[in-house]
Amino acid sequence: MKKILITRRLLRSCEDKAKETFDANFNLNDELYSQQKLIELSKGCDGILSSLTDKLDAVTINKLPDTIKIISNFAVGFGNIDLEAAKSRGIAVTNTPEVLTDATAEIGVLLILGACRRASEGIASAREGGWKWSADYLIGKQLTGTRLGVLGMGRIGQKIAKIAKSLGMIIHYHNRSKLSDDKDQGATYHDTLKGLLSVSDVLSICCPASKETVDMINKETIEYLPKGAVVTNVARGDIVDDEAMIDALERRKIYAVGLDVYKNEPNLNPGYLKHKSAFILPHLGSATKDTRTAMANLAIDNIDEYFSTGNCKNKVN
Ligand code: NAP
Repeated sequence: MKKILITRRLLRSCEDKAKETFDANFNLNDELYSQQKLIELSKGCDGILSSLTDKLDAVTINKLPDTIKIISNFAVGFGNIDLEAAKSRGIAVTNTPEVLTDATAEIGVLLILGACRRASEGIASAREGGWKWSADYLIGKQLTGTRLGVLGMGRIGQKIAKIAKSLGMIIHYHNRSKLSDDKDQGATYHDTLKGLLSVSDVLSICCPASKETVDMINKETIEYLPKGAVVTNVARGDIVDDEAMIDALERRKIYAVGLDVYKNEPNLNPGYLKHKSAFILPHLGSATKDTRTAMANLAIDNIDEYFSTGNCKNKVN
């Protein structure tokens, strides 16, 4: 049986499956391992089932024991792992695509609705009581007829586009490559970020964090958006320059933001907390029982597949 370090707790049924499949080393207190502790606990292990809270940078990967052959990340994103460093040490990295698309797209749509329809302010007023209905009370932005720009029209972006289209939104997108007709759902393709932003009344950020996308939404690119645009991010915090976004909220260049992910989670930039127009969630994208179960089972299966066949369809490096 392969010995696997599982860095965070999983749902019980998934831990049972891990126990049946591996000699599993669990993190019973669900503590956040330091990079040093992760290296120490990896000794004698064949693989690591990691989560997005583990920072597996080049320095950490280079200190892992030679016995480690796979890092199976419990997420579709893998911005927390230095893929090149892993590759040069002969360590396969795998992820959990598809199984979390629906749940994450639901949160992506919630961000759009919450930011456009002033849900944060509405919830606070309803809880406080004493609010008085009037014709112009908490007026928000209607989605019907509004242009949605999807930055990163992959699995999650396409599902958000599908739901948004059913709400009457007009879909535009930007990827590095144009989608085939069966996937684009009639959406308009923009081959530049500038082209997409200039038509985005509402922006939904759905691309991965990478060297190319870090701070892609910044002081300069925010200016391409129409005045009063809404920006939502269900992908990764690293894609947005927070200071520039908070400044744009202050100047009313940006009407509202809807955020599920942040730089330096869970310590989000306090500037967002000052803005009633910030509809913020604590990284809930994949947080449903069905999805978290499917993700963990896939992360386990990825390890099993790799050791039984020498390869894995979800290998990303
Ligand atoms: P995906 O299917 O790989 O889609 C990513 C899309 O981004 C692709 O269409 C890709 O198209 C585009 N893209 C990549 N690099 C780009 C660039 N430099 N400029 C413009 N577009 C770019 O991934 P997914 O399954 O939809 O997941 C997307 C991301 O969502 C993940 O990487 C993860 O970080 C995040 N996520 C968040 C949560 C959460 O809890 N909030 C949950 C799951 C996933 P091209 O390759 O043609 O450019």
